[in-house]
Amino acid sequence: MSLIVVVVHPDLLGTYGDGGNGLVLAQRARWRGVSAELVEATSDVALPEGDLYCLGGGEDAAQTASADRLRTEGTLERAVGRGATVLAVCAGYQIVGRSFPAADGRPLPGVGLLDVTTAKGTGRRAVGEILAEPVGGRLPVLSGFENHAALTTRGPDTSPLGRVTVGIGNGDGTDGAVCGGVVGTYLHGPVLARNPALADLLLSRAIGRPLKPLDDTEEAALRGERIAAVRARRAGGLVRYVLGSS
Ligand code: GLN
Repeated sequence: MSLIVVVVHPDLLGTYGDGGNGLVLAQRARWRGVSAELVEATSDVALPEGDLYCLGGGEDAAQTASADRLRTEGTLERAVGRGATVLAVCAGYQIVGRSFPAADGRPLPGVGLLDVTTAKGTGRRAVGEILAEPVGGRLPVLSGFENHAALTTRGPDTSPLGRVTVGIGNGDGTDGAVCGGVVGTYLHGPVLARNPALADLLLSRAIGRPLKPLDDTEEAALRGERIAAVRARRAGGLVRYVLGSS
């Protein structure tokens, strides 16, 4: 039996290389001798049944098209209902919430897998490196970059993924949201390439057992460099956010 990893609508939610999250999950499974199939499910085909779904970032119009398609099909909700695991990044995170803004700011319905609502921010666009201390203590610091105009408010049925130490995230000092096997975050990178421990948390949930550790020496060295650089730039006052529109 193969673990099925589905990259959802890479033709619409393909900015910043977030499709790499699917690649990381499939490869880290295979490195442990677990057979894994990676499915790139473009929006012109019905979303397949899978064990792990990855949604990435996207422009406002593409995000709306993807959300419409997912709501109409209902496959993702059914998959979560039978226990599938979901990683949703930026536009994908907003889509799996209760509502998100159209390009003109009107609220549109999301898929409703996470008790979060997203609205256009009133200030500057969040662009830059982000660091977050994970909530719950099971992961090392989360590292990525963000680029979004809208901000997200969590409802009582979610926990944040992390507390932001550099960057904006949800906009209230936290990043992301977690409910059961659905994880949302503003971190690009791809986030699972930058944070292999998060990849393994999602994988072990999907596989249903703890995973034997891998030799992540190279990943750890790259993480160390990047995290130290971001902290040093912040200490020097050099981490900036720029104004813009999506
Ligand atoms: N369009 C959304 C926003 O600006 C998501 C952007 C993204 O996925 N990078 O908030």
